[in-house]
Amino acid sequence: MDTVIKNGTIVTHRRTFRSDIGIRAGKIARIAESIPGKKIIDASGMLIFPGIIDAHTHMETLVFAESCGKGIISSDDFYTGTRAAAAGGVTTIIDFTIQNKGESLKDSIIRRKRQADKKVYIDYSLHCNITDFDGNFLEEISSIIESGISGFKVFMAYRNDEIMVSDENLRLLLAETRKYGGVVQVHAENGFLLDYFVDKFREEGKSKPIFHAKSRPDYVEEEAVVRAIKLAEETDGGLYLVHLSTEKSIEAVRWAKQKSIKVFAETCPQYLLLNEGVYERENGRYYITSPPLRGDNDREALWKGIEDGIIDVIATDHCPFTCAQKDGGENIFFKIPNGLPGVETLLPTMYSEGVIKRGLELTQLVKLLCYNPARIFGLYPKKGAIEEGSDADLVIFNLEEEMTMSASSLHSNTVFSPYEGLKIKGIPEITISRGEIIYEREKFFGEKGRGQFVKAKPTIQSEIVQGT
Ligand SMILES: [Zn+2]
Repeated sequence: MDTVIKNGTIVTHRRTFRSDIGIRAGKIARIAESIPGKKIIDASGMLIFPGIIDAHTHMETLVFAESCGKGIISSDDFYTGTRAAAAGGVTTIIDFTIQNKGESLKDSIIRRKRQADKKVYIDYSLHCNITDFDGNFLEEISSIIESGISGFKVFMAYRNDEIMVSDENLRLLLAETRKYGGVVQVHAENGFLLDYFVDKFREEGKSKPIFHAKSRPDYVEEEAVVRAIKLAEETDGGLYLVHLSTEKSIEAVRWAKQKSIKVFAETCPQYLLLNEGVYERENGRYYITSPPLRGDNDREALWKGIEDGIIDVIATDHCPFTCAQKDGGENIFFKIPNGLPGVETLLPTMYSEGVIKRGLELTQLVKLLCYNPARIFGLYPKKGAIEEGSDADLVIFNLEEEMTMSASSLHSNTVFSPYEGLKIKGIPEITISRGEIIYEREKFFGEKGRGQFVKAKPTIQSEIVQGT
């Protein structure tokens, strides 16, 4: 073996057990007792997780909101963002393509890969974002799934930016992706109502950050969630609801799952850890993100949804901005670019707040952060697993160490962290990507651009829904 990890406790989506892990040529070659090897990593007292998959990131992404003005690009590029990810135990991100008007989906993928390939520090996959519905987008679906992308993202909001999907097109897309084992990701908010509320508040002079939350009442999300579920039910298409934030949405998904509709639910740490009270803070503008942070009843309902298995994935919607970029919005909620950093804090916050504080099972944590995203988006068993033959993507996790979260010790290109001051227990000690140590205790060892595009396989969602 090239490398053997000894004395650690392995956590998979099924069980927690003691064993050595033997790594050869970047793959997990053996899981057994007493494996000999050239290089030994001693993981005594540590947990070993599969490398974390952040299924929802926006590196160097132009934010579409008309109110943001032109050319506001999220502040992490594919290098700074994936390096920060590695420090947080994330070994795969799934980012999004960005389609220009009139551009084919295929060309948008080529362009995005070119942007990522020379910079990525860890492996990555892409979701194909469809924002131009005038062309023959349906004709491209099968070849894109064949080329290794199984997720297609659409917005049910942002009508003014001309990127909103119509109900007809969403229905067509669900039916088409179903044929080839794709999944449709939906940003579920009712675009008509959102625009109405923002315009109303603008006219009434209600512009402070708290009105961002008030302009997006919970039923605006719930209504779109229900509509998308109905279309998934009718078409039998695979539906993945990104960043759910409300109790009402969780109840809708609960209903859908009881009916065996192929729906998957994602939430993010910010909706589990923070509430809308942050918008009243002096720096409330920095917390503007969509959907907005909600009330504590919603927060509790999300945790309950995790406990009950209603929520399948926790991802971050990582989309940081510098304070200068946020300040450029002049404290007017509809002018402030939307987004929060999160990729680096995903595992530590979910371990500390989920496992330590709320008794979340370690196996469930691995399901939410590794196994489920890998299954749903066709990356399993290459990613998201500690199995013989899987990529040797691993996090050696120190469960004793305590720290206070601070942007100054994080690695994203922003000096703001939504979790500033949060005390946590447990930090990633070593991050291994395809057998290579790329991060160990504040030090980085990999090369810029070492990450690779991971080809996704089509997925059979009914199997995942049934938990097989
Ligand atoms: Zn997003």
